[in-house]
Amino acid sequence: MKTTLRTDITVKEICEGFVYSEYEGKGLFGWSGKLTIQPEYQRNYLYKDAKLEEAVIQSVLSGYPLGLLYFNKVGEDRYEILDGQQRVTSLGRFLTDKFGLVIEHVSACYFSSMPEDLRKKIEDTTLTIYICEGEESEIKNWYKTINIYGIKLNHQEISNAVYSGPFVTMARAEFSNSQNSNLQKWKAYIKGEVNRQEILRVALEWVARSTDDTVIDAYMSKHRYDDNINELLNYFTSVIDWIMSVFKESHREMCGLAWGELFEKYHGRPYDPIEVSKKVNELYADEAVENKKGIFEYVLGGCKDTKLLAIRFFENSTKKSAYTKQTNDAKISGKSNCPLCAAGKGNNAQRIWKYEEMEADHVTAWSKGGASNLQNCQMLCKTHNRAKGNR
Ligand SMILES: [Zn+2]
Repeated sequence: MKTTLRTDITVKEICEGFVYSEYEGKGLFGWSGKLTIQPEYQRNYLYKDAKLEEAVIQSVLSGYPLGLLYFNKVGEDRYEILDGQQRVTSLGRFLTDKFGLVIEHVSACYFSSMPEDLRKKIEDTTLTIYICEGEESEIKNWYKTINIYGIKLNHQEISNAVYSGPFVTMARAEFSNSQNSNLQKWKAYIKGEVNRQEILRVALEWVARSTDDTVIDAYMSKHRYDDNINELLNYFTSVIDWIMSVFKESHREMCGLAWGELFEKYHGRPYDPIEVSKKVNELYADEAVENKKGIFEYVLGGCKDTKLLAIRFFENSTKKSAYTKQTNDAKISGKSNCPLCAAGKGNNAQRIWKYEEMEADHVTAWSKGGASNLQNCQMLCKTHNRAKGNR
């Protein structure tokens, strides 16, 4: 069976000459008559729920992918939909004003009455289509295997079927083999089930990202008949080795991080694993760090982007204690309870702010080692706190 990936066909082209049978409740033809939407052997039913049909259009409007469509080439410029006829029918029905949807509070907005830019956005959206060619029995068998007993195959399982060949066979023997002795090591960093091809998926995602192909399917298509998986395996091993050379210990939160991206971004920088380990453990012990998963990228980036850590600020009880102490002291000295107001000469130099009018500030900034405790907490009026910013 031969498969070709097409990503150049637009919604407009597919819906050209769309024919819908009201009587049978199904789409019949599209793509200027070249496409049979519901072949006889495929007895799927249309979306019974109008909401699902609308969701197809909303997805296109939001720029979300519609997923893969499979067409079977049955003759010179003649095709049948193997998978995706519900989506194609929804598109065709919408473009021919068979139903409307709610857009910006306008209920039942029909395609022909939509603003032109939205119409164009829908029409120009390109679809991802696999065109399969082969004997009918072969195609039907393959279709049966991808839909066997209602078990939904995941993306990688389908890709493995579409690009079956020596490359996939070798890649599976390495990455989808539960007997592989490296598995334990890999699973510290990669989430997923080996037998559902999820480790292989990550390996392909990493290598595809590093090459011009970027998309897994494009990579698989290009290497389908290769007699080795050297590039895939070498790249994967480089990423894993790099992680292990930078981070001496593995932590639970390391599993499932975007290591391919992190490798591309940071593998050219030098790291001292002893320093890294010290820093990581320090951050793990710091209760103010709410997002432990962010620790690794934070450290790789040179401990600058504190947003990655979602630092927790002071507890309410701490803020109230600091407020009470500052306000009592201020009343005795006759100055403002905001130390920065008190130090100034303006109208607020003696002002006693209410608790709600103040915010908590780290005396020593968190990034410089300041803790979120009472000793390091001072209440400032909102103006001064915001002026002080994130120092
Ligand atoms: Zn102030």
